Amino acid sequence: MPSIDKTGVRVLVLDDEPLMLEFLADTLNSLGYTQVTTCSSGYRALSLLDAPGADIVLFDLKMPELDGLQFIRHLKGRDFTGSVVLVSGVDERIVQSSEQLVRSYGMDILGSISKPVLPDELDRVLAGWTRERNAQNPVVTPAYSESEIRAAIASGELLNFYQPKVDLASGEVVGAEVLVRWRHPVDGLLAPSMFISTAEHHEIIEDLTVNVITQTLEQARRWKDEGLPMDLSVNVSTNWLSDLQFPDLVAELARQVNIAPRHLLLEVSGGRLMEDIHAGLEILARLRLMGFGLCLDAFGASSLSLGQLRSIPFTELKVGRSLITGAWKNRNAGAALGSSMTLGQQLGVCVTAEGVETIEDWRFVKAAGCKLCQGYFVAAPMRAQELTDWLPTWRERYLAELADDSTGG
Ligand code: C2E
Ligand code: MG
Repeated sequence: MPSIDKTGVRVLVLDDEPLMLEFLADTLNSLGYTQVTTCSSGYRALSLLDAPGADIVLFDLKMPELDGLQFIRHLKGRDFTGSVVLVSGVDERIVQSSEQLVRSYGMDILGSISKPVLPDELDRVLAGWTRERNAQNPVVTPAYSESEIRAAIASGELLNFYQPKVDLASGEVVGAEVLVRWRHPVDGLLAPSMFISTAEHHEIIEDLTVNVITQTLEQARRWKDEGLPMDLSVNVSTNWLSDLQFPDLVAELARQVNIAPRHLLLEVSGGRLMEDIHAGLEILARLRLMGFGLCLDAFGASSLSLGQLRSIPFTELKVGRSLITGAWKNRNAGAALGSSMTLGQQLGVCVTAEGVETIEDWRFVKAAGCKLCQGYFVAAPMRAQELTDWLPTWRERYLAELADDSTGG
């Protein structure tokens, strides 16, 4: 086997035990791996996979917050193209099922290591990695046909994931953005980029959106009944904003489950909104009149003028990731966030920062005056039940790490 340049391999190690983390990092360093990042939380590991990224992710199967199996699913959901190494002290059969799960998602697995970890064993498993190995495992973008997408909607394979939105001043979880996923029977969990544009071009987006909104309102009802009221935001493609029946349809769906319109926000992106401004305006203004919230998505990336912005009764501006993630170290992005804030204040709307990935991003958007934030630093999108289970964990983490953090102003 040709030897690899270990100094060029980025290894991310995830384990909830601090001593184990230290041991693994030291061992990897002594084996010659110099780009080692350690992390004790699955959610944080997911954010680290974007920046600095990783070629190999080594993780424990048994973790309290997000266990290894859930973590594998999140890796797939994020199109992780690196290689996986499982570290575990659990039953061999659980390890085998986990390996199988990784493979069934089409991800690359280098092997499993049982605890106590022996340095030679670690060296042997990691030595199997090559850059080509990951290159052969690209973000597969299968072209799904119109009929496959229709069938997926009909058979309930489209699932809502929920990403929490948090008030920066109080840490309170005020709601969540709904992000659709396709649980494909063969290809695994697919991100919206794999099917939304086909759905838009073949007029399936209406059915898809009704499906997403129906699931959302039913979930809003369940959370309300459990004493966990949430305002939920749903993404609406602008090509549907020419259907004048849309507001009545949404109002009817909300009425059926007795959810007040103010608890549902519709997110639209500015880009194509202006193509048919008349229909778009009528629809958005009617939705607002009915009491639904309206959010301008990916604000900052859109080219709406102040006049156009004023003409649409938005209740929220969501500043896009490109202006948020890492903006604290980038003067231009920082200035752009500042002007988005000024605009938000002039319009008197709530400003949400999306793409908050690190504590530095959190502090930065808080100091800039954003009200709400969303991003991997808080939590990745997850299923409804996972979100319910995550709430107390977040509260604890917020109180322990963030409540007294005055760096963010
Ligand atoms: P979006 O509305 O801008 O959604 C935010 C995207 O950013 C989501 O990707 C989310 O998983 C990802 N994200 C969240 N936090 C972070 C972070 O801290 N860092 C980074 N790098 N990314 C983060 P996702 O789920 O792949 O969705 C992509 C887009 O697909 C969405 O962008 C939205 O435009 C569209 N989409 C999702 N669900 C629906 C839907 O039900 N209907 C329609 N029409 N579009 C949808
Ligand atoms: Mg959105």
